Amino acid sequence: MRCKKLLLLYTGGTIGMQMGADGLVPATGFEARVRAQQALMPASEQPHWIFRELLPPIDSANMAHGHWLAMVAMIRAGVEDDGCDAVLLLQGTDTLAYSAAALSFLLLGLPVPVLLSGAMLPAGAEGSDAWGNLFGAMSALQQGLVSGVQLYFNGQLLHGARASKWHSEAFDAFRALPRQRHGAAATELPARLDYRQPRQAVNLAALPLFPGIQAAHVHALLSTGVQALLLECYGSGTGPAADSELLAALHSAHAQGVVLAAISQCPSGHVEFGVYAAGSQFASCGLISGGGMTREAALGKLFALLAAGMSQTEVEHWFALDLCGELLEG
Ligand code: ASP
Repeated sequence: MRCKKLLLLYTGGTIGMQMGADGLVPATGFEARVRAQQALMPASEQPHWIFRELLPPIDSANMAHGHWLAMVAMIRAGVEDDGCDAVLLLQGTDTLAYSAAALSFLLLGLPVPVLLSGAMLPAGAEGSDAWGNLFGAMSALQQGLVSGVQLYFNGQLLHGARASKWHSEAFDAFRALPRQRHGAAATELPARLDYRQPRQAVNLAALPLFPGIQAAHVHALLSTGVQALLLECYGSGTGPAADSELLAALHSAHAQGVVLAAISQCPSGHVEFGVYAAGSQFASCGLISGGGMTREAALGKLFALLAAGMSQTEVEHWFALDLCGELLEG
């Protein structure tokens, strides 16, 4: 459906940054700059929009769980109170893929399209991609997009729960790499995952496996009280299964209620524990497979499930099922 009233939600990032003493810093006053730029363009190309901003605007390197919940609240207010039928959220690119993934799960059930975008160079800088990304995203929304979260960057539309940042400088900074996605779909979404439901604070962490990892490293992480630990395994889901101390640490964490989720650290990989004994044995500590999910998708999904107040068993159940295209190619 074509968009009639757009919520432009600005949270900071390079797109609106200005030069400070130590480098680029987030800046307010972006609405006036967008309106001035739009005045130079043909009126028919852009939808009517209202502006809201996260205050203070942030470098997205400072993104935290609370910012995602604030975004959800602002999007909800824009749709329910202001009557917006599409959302364009601007943020920095460093954690844009994490936000796109988290919002894909936090906004389940929202009946309008949500695009996330940003820029590699500030608006107004010579050769910047800022206006192209911003107005390109607005045009895409005006022409009509399906509901759900997507990332719009450098003329490309990417699935919100499949994208990763790929370049730190080039304009085509994001990719959704092909990964095997053949999980089972959830037949119905639980009411607790609806975007209007209240959320609670979450403590979760990710740990890439690497040669030299020790049980003591795992103990240290677990001692922070994490509710879930995302293990970025080797290849098809293998890990140091010969390290009985490390396995025991994971086993006892799982027995105490910690969700242990696994993804592949290969950019185009997916988990299939049974291929190697080192995978099966590692998984026997209580690991749940994240299939072909990216780190961003797995973290965003764990966050949404835990924030909904789900138990270990419930998180494990829903984590294994496709909720919005993160596990299943549509
Ligand atoms: N550090 C910036 C940010 O993520 C980078 C960017 O916007 O491209 O906010």
